[in-house]
Amino acid sequence: MTYPELHLTIEGETIPVGHRRTHTVVNPATGEALGALPLADAADLDRALAAAQRGFRLWRNAAPHERAAVLMGAARLLRERQEEIARIATLEQGKTLTESRLEVLMNVGLFEFYAGECHRLYGRQLARPTGMRSTVTFEPVGPVAAFAPWNFPIGNPGRKLGAPIAAGCSVILKAAEEAPGSALAVLECLLDAGLPKDVGQAVFGVPDEVSRHLLASPIIRKLSFTGSTAVGKHLMKLAAEDCKRTTMELGGHGAVLVFDDVDVEQVLNTMVASKFRNAGQVCIAPTRFIVQEGVYERFLRGFSERAAQWRVGNGLEEGVQMGPMANPRRPEAMERLIGGALSAGARLHTGGRRLGTQGYYYAPTVLSEIPQSAAIMNEEPFGPVALVNPYRTEAEMIAEANRLPYGLSAFSWTNDAARQRRLAREVEAGVFCINTVMMGSPDSPFGGVKWSGHGSENGPEGVMSCMVVKAVHEA
Ligand code: NAD
Repeated sequence: MTYPELHLTIEGETIPVGHRRTHTVVNPATGEALGALPLADAADLDRALAAAQRGFRLWRNAAPHERAAVLMGAARLLRERQEEIARIATLEQGKTLTESRLEVLMNVGLFEFYAGECHRLYGRQLARPTGMRSTVTFEPVGPVAAFAPWNFPIGNPGRKLGAPIAAGCSVILKAAEEAPGSALAVLECLLDAGLPKDVGQAVFGVPDEVSRHLLASPIIRKLSFTGSTAVGKHLMKLAAEDCKRTTMELGGHGAVLVFDDVDVEQVLNTMVASKFRNAGQVCIAPTRFIVQEGVYERFLRGFSERAAQWRVGNGLEEGVQMGPMANPRRPEAMERLIGGALSAGARLHTGGRRLGTQGYYYAPTVLSEIPQSAAIMNEEPFGPVALVNPYRTEAEMIAEANRLPYGLSAFSWTNDAARQRRLAREVEAGVFCINTVMMGSPDSPFGGVKWSGHGSENGPEGVMSCMVVKAVHEA
């Protein structure tokens, strides 16, 4: 399998390295270089901005069925190219091929759902005296600057492109320089399905340079960002200078409340796989396991036994359950955070070390009795580590779940119906799961509260986030 030639996509033109600065894309399973990615300069970005302005004028007037046809066509092409795109994602990001294939299908589902939403962008008419009319309409917000990270190299670009395109906006995507091949493949499906060339473009560059340049332009009317809370806050300040709209999908520190009344084996069957999915590099990953005393020992023992047997290896190989981490910063962060927890008195049950001599592998790790003051209990670890602590009462467990400024995902396991309702109301999270981990579907809004951001992707809300409201009053 060869890795594709990398390029910028501006005005439908694929722009190769040429005289530009480059970023070397690396395979995290081996540490080997995959290819050179051209980095946009100011002239490239200006060209993309001018095209986005033209693209918006064109696309805002496209009929709903035209927009839907592009999204449906792209979904079909994604399906046809599933294997090729999945392999690119695994090569550049490390996750297993099974995970990459599923990611393609998630994107297919989202494009199909958004295609349907193109036909459902209704306004409303207000009751007025005869002869007068007041209507509320929704209009596309304008050209969008969208920044997608490396952890879902197919799905994140898909979300960032799909919503503006359904809404009638143009979009300039800057996906992560570490996983550009998958993002380009998703955009290619849209362009091959008939998306006008100025409507969807892809640039790469020095992230701070690109975001400053695009967000300083009055052409851009909306910022859509997925990534860390620190970078998100910085970009929100840049967007505020020009009162741009924002959708911010930021960090998390997922709480999992496990009560005494559950079947521990059933919880473990679900949660262990969820923890180690994508080597823990998932914003909605379960992280803090808040376990009631009655099942604590059994839960901890069962989790550790399963984690110790988790099969780690190159994501391209059959039978591997977890690939390497995506870049050298992640195992370094694991060493710092897990080392800090152990120095603070936490107990290590399995893992706690790098694996192999090449690539960025880190072993599935389980820690318990971690002091609340340890950095790992407060900072998003974004890695394959489960933090398990015992608690006595429901009130203490809710207090721990809500202790941090993050509020993206939270999970609870209990068979007590009244408690389920209390938790659903009390736990501060944008997405809350009761006795399941299935939360990411095309029709369901996805986003956080507090430091985890604001606004939603997916669902009708995802498209509406790219629209503005206009009230028209006629006498
Ligand atoms: P980072 O915070 O520097 O980068 C996160 C993402 O933001 C990357 O895709 C990067 O290209 C982009 N970025 C960084 N600076 C930017 C800027 N000035 N303008 C525009 N984009 C910018 O660090 P990282 O090492 O890539 O990731 C570290 C942390 O980020 C993780 O520990 C995790 O907390 C968070 N993260 C979250 C998500 C998510 O899905 N919410 C995804 C990836 C990373």
